[in-house]
Amino acid sequence: MARDQHTTTTTGLRDWPFLPARGINIVDADDCWLIDSDGRRILDAAGGAIVANVGHGRAEVADAIREASLHPSYVVPTWKTPQREALVERLRRDWLPPGLTHVHLTSGGSEGVESAVKIALQHFAAKGETQRVKIMARDVSYHGTTLATAALSGHIGRKRGLEGFLARHPTLPTPWTLRSRLGPHHPDAGAAFLEASRAAIEAAGPDTVAAILVEAVTGSSGGAIVPPPDYLPGLRALCDEYGILLIVDEVMTGFGRVGAKFAADHFGVAPDLLVSGKGLAGGYAAICGVFATAAVAEPIAAAKDISVMFHTFAALPSACAAADAVLSILEREQLVARAGAMGAKLRARLDERLGQHPHVAEVRGVGLLQAVEVVRDRDTLEPFAEEEKITDKIVREALRRGVFYYPGGTGPVRDILVMGPPFTVSDAQVEQMADTLADSIDAVLA
Ligand code: PLP
Repeated sequence: MARDQHTTTTTGLRDWPFLPARGINIVDADDCWLIDSDGRRILDAAGGAIVANVGHGRAEVADAIREASLHPSYVVPTWKTPQREALVERLRRDWLPPGLTHVHLTSGGSEGVESAVKIALQHFAAKGETQRVKIMARDVSYHGTTLATAALSGHIGRKRGLEGFLARHPTLPTPWTLRSRLGPHHPDAGAAFLEASRAAIEAAGPDTVAAILVEAVTGSSGGAIVPPPDYLPGLRALCDEYGILLIVDEVMTGFGRVGAKFAADHFGVAPDLLVSGKGLAGGYAAICGVFATAAVAEPIAAAKDISVMFHTFAALPSACAAADAVLSILEREQLVARAGAMGAKLRARLDERLGQHPHVAEVRGVGLLQAVEVVRDRDTLEPFAEEEKITDKIVREALRRGVFYYPGGTGPVRDILVMGPPFTVSDAQVEQMADTLADSIDAVLA
């Protein structure tokens, strides 16, 4: 369908106005299934945008939202409510890495990352280190759609048309073992990425850098890139050496998606600031958490004239109640461990079906965040031409076959299919996800 054509529904509602039309109208859902207006069931292999961690249709979350909304529907975010207190208590008790005691809430991931960046900058301003005004992020990454987070993101596609306005920030290399300068999957890849990161920090001027912003496991921009095991601890050490704060963006990976509470846990790394959104309320409410250490927060609290502003809809009682209910489901049904176990099954089936495919560069990921990178040539990693829109074609073909995958990739690494289903996904469903993807890739590339 041409880019400027939009399908309309019986209500006359057009598709999302500024994105290419897909003409999908979802009217119902049940756990891992989406149901469209024709009654067709679509397997939600992506949990929407890697969000629906506890599945669709959870009555207890809906009840919690209803109950919260019957009391004060809104108070200014700086005031306490029982819903926010319960959520913060649960987060501190059961979820957050040790030391991350200060909880700032926002409505979404972009706002969350931007708030973390502001907190880092304000932290140094409060300490009088006013020269620390730079934020470094990585060359393949996604941190959000606001102007500041888009500028920090290494996502060419989502910056198009904004390039003249967006600020330029110094970058670090994305720790990508497939594309290590030492060759694919070299045992010293982690050390090489750290060496390049040190050089980038030195070039930026270490005393001028406030924070380094990274995804612990890169989400859809690069397609579930898991760094070598020594990389994140090494980056933590570099930050400590130079007095730079480490902000870990786990908007996509947090709250169990990767088979651990947070992806940083897999590497034994404690960030100074952690941002995590999508899975916090699993799509039932718009809420994201920015979690900071006391060492980060205290100078700001002590400064008389510096404060971190809230967003109006941060900490809505209904959103806090939804998040509290979702976290309680994750705990009761032990869904974080299940995400790890089902992720291993999904990965095994993907490896079996696509691991040696001539047009698959790599199957990669951890837990229930898995991705397949499609290329023209597996050996040289040459991509298909952008105009061929291979990812779009595969997503459309798979939808025709009844499964939804999330399109990822950017720049030269452009054809990526991401999977992130609800943690309740069954054995039969992970097989269907792997098989339909393999069949759709073959159908499109035939
Ligand atoms: N950071 C990461 C790693 C993300 O994956 C996303 C969204 O996909 C964001 C930030 C932005 O979050 P939002 O779309 O909720 O603003």
